[in-house]
Amino acid sequence: MTSPLPPARPGSQATAYVDLGAVEGNVRALRGHAGPAALMAVVKADAYGHGLVPVARAAIRGGATWLGTARLSEAITLRDNGIPGRLMAWQAVPGADFAACLEREIDLGVSAPWALDEIVAAARHTGITARVHLKVDTGLGRAGAYAADFTALLDAAVAAAREGTVRVVGVWSHLACADEPGHPSIRAQQLVFEAAVAEAARAGCELEVRHLANSAATVTDPSLHYDLVRTGIAIYGLSPVPALGDSAAYGLTPAMTLVARLALVKDVPAGQGVSYGHLYTTTEATRLGLVPLGYADGIPRNASNVGPLAVGGVRHRIAGRVCMDQVVVDLGAGSNARAGDDVVIFGTGGAGEPTAQEWAVSTGTISYEIVTRLGPRVEREYVGVEEVG
Ligand SMILES: *Cc1c(COP(=O)(O)O)cnc(C)c1O
Repeated sequence: MTSPLPPARPGSQATAYVDLGAVEGNVRALRGHAGPAALMAVVKADAYGHGLVPVARAAIRGGATWLGTARLSEAITLRDNGIPGRLMAWQAVPGADFAACLEREIDLGVSAPWALDEIVAAARHTGITARVHLKVDTGLGRAGAYAADFTALLDAAVAAAREGTVRVVGVWSHLACADEPGHPSIRAQQLVFEAAVAEAARAGCELEVRHLANSAATVTDPSLHYDLVRTGIAIYGLSPVPALGDSAAYGLTPAMTLVARLALVKDVPAGQGVSYGHLYTTTEATRLGLVPLGYADGIPRNASNVGPLAVGGVRHRIAGRVCMDQVVVDLGAGSNARAGDDVVIFGTGGAGEPTAQEWAVSTGTISYEIVTRLGPRVEREYVGVEEVG
């Protein structure tokens, strides 16, 4: 399923190769986990740093029938690039361009009465009935109408449905601890969710989709699948429950491989301090390599002295502090690495290179942040698909 990486373009300092065949295969694997439930590929935040439109197309090839984004603008970009199928966006502030969403047949997640009011106004203005998914805060304590306020939101939506401005097509929620299977909050949230669904049904809503599961819930608990699962991290091939299993354990392949090219190699004696603050000092005469990627490109500064990478198939750790534009690696005296050689920051792990999950552990974060934070100076190159255009 993994495609060989093409050689770097001459002069290219750093490239994030995104294997769209892997994305497609991951979606297919997740459909297997999801059983009869439909699959929404969550492509917010530029598809977790992988590239919004190419990933969306790959997810559709893999069988995703829904695409989800946080911002309205992300869903608008998808539609304006010709992406078909159901789109849903769920994050907005007052004054958002809901009319632009209605004109593009984008479903809207609704957490608050103000949003419903603005959506109703947009529906009147455009003459297009809005498809809304009412979000209930079942215990995450984040977005969604708090359970006690859900009835008021539902009543307002039902009134709007009666005048034809709105159709309530979904009730949904989001879990706090899905990556800790068996956590008591999961069942507690599920009960609140089912009560909200039942309330909507009693109010006369003919729901198309009830949805609660993220990637972790999708691969660990079929009782949470309902009609639709919203998978993000797993479509990129990263384990949603790393404490229980790696990517392969869930049938997933990491899609992104981040490769930089050595900008400089030089020999230094023992006792040379390396990079700002001299947090690293050579213990013997050695060869240093300069890797032209820094925190401006998404390498966490707290990867200083710990971030793993591979040069010529040999693993090293970053030597000294991560700078804005570069890091240094101690290649060892025997190294025959040269300027221009590839440095693999992370990849599938299939050739022994570090993974985004390993970076997450090294830097005290989650794999989501490692891939999403890559900066705009890192070129994305798509492999694993015969893409036209
Ligand atoms: C980001 C997000 C998801 C996807 O979560 P993963 O853990 O990446 O699968 C699902 N639902 C909502 C509401 C989200 O914000």
